[in-house]
Amino acid sequence: MNLLIMGPPGAGKGTQAEIISNKLGVKHLSSGDMLRAAVSIQSELGKRAESFMKAGELVPDELMIEMILSEVQEVLESDSHAGFLLDGFPRTLVQAKALDRSFENNGVAIDKIINLEVDAEQVVDRLTARRVCGDCKSIFNVNQLSSLDSEVCPSCGSKALIRRKDDEESVIRNRLEVYFSSTFPITNYYSEVHSILNIDGSQEKDTITDFILGELEKPSSRVAEV
Ligand code: ADP
Repeated sequence: MNLLIMGPPGAGKGTQAEIISNKLGVKHLSSGDMLRAAVSIQSELGKRAESFMKAGELVPDELMIEMILSEVQEVLESDSHAGFLLDGFPRTLVQAKALDRSFENNGVAIDKIINLEVDAEQVVDRLTARRVCGDCKSIFNVNQLSSLDSEVCPSCGSKALIRRKDDEESVIRNRLEVYFSSTFPITNYYSEVHSILNIDGSQEKDTITDFILGELEKPSSRVAEV
């Protein structure tokens, strides 16, 4: 099964993508995680992407398209390929059209687009409180950790809880603007050709997961639609 997950920054895409890809046995391809890994090793791509990410701007399309399409190709060529879940890509119409062309050439179809909807103020509240464990990569809301252990990862006990550089309020507001001007229009483009599952992303994490998995199990979700 081939899936896309979309929604504004802070909608919970990464969290849901991790759980759902594990449950379905599909490969989770997160453009943000790939870029952060490239920045941390200071690869050529990482060096070119870093300043855009810090400012909450989009990394140029040609870099993104090359990076993601080569990852998708690798998944398609692997023997154990059970599908993938793309998280954070496409983010512009140019990226969406490049992805469509690549899928067409490979005879691949998108089975479902999961679209998490959250309003802007909730995004700001969530992201200013977001911390990521530098060791096990779990994601937490600092307001939900007790004050005594707010420095310690509740999942693995590491003291490496970090705040992402782009989770500062002015950068979050810029990411939201970029989302509404560049990424949101893709949902209209996709709604003409693909099946989109719109979900209220302000609900409890488990409620959202159960809903998505329930919808994906319905037989119609398995019908290829291109
Ligand atoms: P979020 O969805 O919370 O904003 P991500 O981890 O998906 O965060 O992305 C972090 C940053 O990486 C983005 O703000 C942007 O700079 C860059 N990025 C990720 N995916 C793309 C993409 N498809 N196109 C352009 N830039 C991207």
